[in-house]
Amino acid sequence: MYYQGLINKYRKYLPVTDSTEIVTLNEGNTPLIKADNLAKKIGINVNLYLKFEGCNPTGSFKDRGMTMAVTKAKEAGANAIICASTGNTSASAAAYGAKAGIKTFVLIPDGYIALGKLSQAMMYGAEIIAIKGNFDQALDCVREISSKYPVTLVNSVNPYRIEGQKTGAFEICDALGKAPEYHFIPVGNAGNITAYWKGYKEYREAGIINNLPKMAGFEAEGSAAIVRGERILTPETIATAIRIGNPASWKQAEAARDESGGKIGCVTDEKIIEAYKMIASTEGILCEPASAASVAGLIQAHTAGFVQPETDVVCILTGNGLKDPDNAIKYSNADVKKTSAEINDVLRVMGI
Ligand SMILES: *Cc1c(COP(=O)(O)O)cnc(C)c1O
Repeated sequence: MYYQGLINKYRKYLPVTDSTEIVTLNEGNTPLIKADNLAKKIGINVNLYLKFEGCNPTGSFKDRGMTMAVTKAKEAGANAIICASTGNTSASAAAYGAKAGIKTFVLIPDGYIALGKLSQAMMYGAEIIAIKGNFDQALDCVREISSKYPVTLVNSVNPYRIEGQKTGAFEICDALGKAPEYHFIPVGNAGNITAYWKGYKEYREAGIINNLPKMAGFEAEGSAAIVRGERILTPETIATAIRIGNPASWKQAEAARDESGGKIGCVTDEKIIEAYKMIASTEGILCEPASAASVAGLIQAHTAGFVQPETDVVCILTGNGLKDPDNAIKYSNADVKKTSAEINDVLRVMGI
């Protein structure tokens, strides 16, 4: 049978039964890409892999959680779902809502979501509400609405989201035949680091692997609530997908760090952009700025001596850079050379 999405693939680890009607866009099964050029550029002697979650159907890892959350919402007879979003959750909820035939409401911070993500939610047919406030305020809002009205919350505080997202860890272990020694990941609301850690632990309990990675999560410096140990009321960063000042899975992220002997750090926007460009130019992978926080984190951790040589290191690239062409064009420094359509003019511009 051809690949039919992560619930079918990993159903024995997921809360579904044979009669569950699965809502899927065949998400998951994303490539784990060996990144020798990038490792060389960083100057690190490890087996470096990039898990490119931008290859999911709506272009981010959010689809892993959303197939599960919407499947369970539909099973429970929900007529509507709602989420707060920095962009990718809304795109994903809207897509799976469309597939399920369920009404989708999304709350976004006005002016702070990448245009590609907004265009997705619009095309998939969600009801889009832009609030004059940030993600944390939008999340407070939808939590209250979903507790009082018959609309299912599909943010990562919904436990089914975490269940779906943990399959990313299964895929990495299936590909490597073991867990990596280090797992680097961007941290925003901290659902994904929570989910990966759960996935690795479950695979070990099942006897499929016998090691666990050190979990290394990275926030953006202007939104680094966990690192600072306090809620940030006005989070700022160019990496809008992790522009979150009060992570919902804060405690679980700290548990993943502490249980694994890992770390949660933060990286500046400058380092994020540097990594974002480096990944694209050395490996041919255009991820989102937020995604590059994992690689910026690796560079920082390597400099600090945290990473042992000759180990397996996985960096999660959470989303697809095509969602945010404004930043790609702004930071690429590429200049587009213009000339006439005459071959001789083109050759001259080519320097031939
Ligand atoms: C949602 C998101 C994150 C942050 O994930 P959390 O689970 O909120 O920590 C990082 N990168 C991208 C591209 C995202 O969409």
